[in-house]
Amino acid sequence: MDKLLEVKNLTTSFRIGVGTVQAVRGVSFHVDQGESIGIVGESGSGKSVTMLSVMGLLPNYADISAESIRFDGRELTQMGPKALRAMHGREIGMIFQDPMTSLNPLFTVESQLTEPLRNHMKLNRAEARAKALELLRQVEIPNPEARLRQYPHELSGGLRQRVMIAIAIACSPKMVIADEPTTALDVTIQAQILDLLNHLRHSTKTSIIMITHDLGVIASMCSRILVMYGGTIAEEGTAREIFYAPRHPYTWGLLNSIPKLTDSPDEKLIPIKGTPPDMLMPPKGCPFAPRCRYCMPVCREYMPPRTVLTDTHAVSCHLMHPKAPKIEREG
Ligand code: SF4
Repeated sequence: MDKLLEVKNLTTSFRIGVGTVQAVRGVSFHVDQGESIGIVGESGSGKSVTMLSVMGLLPNYADISAESIRFDGRELTQMGPKALRAMHGREIGMIFQDPMTSLNPLFTVESQLTEPLRNHMKLNRAEARAKALELLRQVEIPNPEARLRQYPHELSGGLRQRVMIAIAIACSPKMVIADEPTTALDVTIQAQILDLLNHLRHSTKTSIIMITHDLGVIASMCSRILVMYGGTIAEEGTAREIFYAPRHPYTWGLLNSIPKLTDSPDEKLIPIKGTPPDMLMPPKGCPFAPRCRYCMPVCREYMPPRTVLTDTHAVSCHLMHPKAPKIEREG
């Protein structure tokens, strides 16, 4: 399958008063045309910063470097801010966690939905309104004529998120980045929004990058998953490899902290003990070492190399070394 996005060796740091936060450290990945991938990890793992770096949406105290960031045949590292901005909305749509902070409270749904259509697609007012109505129907918003006249605060959380999705797909982008799109919603609405995104991916062949801290959220909709920790990719694989044959202790921890259908009601979820590393002073070796029960002396000294297990499955952990102890996943 053709690669739509290919990122090679991306590094992002932030210069702040007390030092440099090393948020993303040498990340490489790709997304195929029409593919849906998940990037999962705790807060501060670098998952959102990775995608904001790709989009060129970080403040000017961020330093971004990459061997290459190719999107749809173009090298983004060679593009200026103006050209990158022109791609937002038109070729890459974004859906954020809290639509209340992304939607402008001062403007109606109609004006926020028709703006990208008029700017990027050069539609006139009547055409943009007609397309806006079609988009609201596409994201299954009832009574779209009335909704167009409303302001964001007049809509429920679920409807606001549907409006955000409508804006993100308005110009038929090739890729949509959804950053924790369901975190602020209750579980029923969350399931509806995930269903909707899945449906849109199949009907429009748009690639989707789903950023989340919750592996359970992406189980049903992502074909491949990147597990990020400490600004690096700890493990990557197909959804089947990550859920049924995970090899990294951090992935084990994430899986043990989500409920399974087979769990009895009194089964306790096991949280990952400890806190994520301080990226102002990340550990010298494996970033997960301070929290890892299998940590060996080598882990504290050396960053684990990436071990390729299959065409799709790779793990960065010293346990993959042939001479390392054989550890079975618990839980
Ligand atoms: Fe644990 Fe060592 Fe593997 Fe890191 S490299 S996850 S510390 S075993």
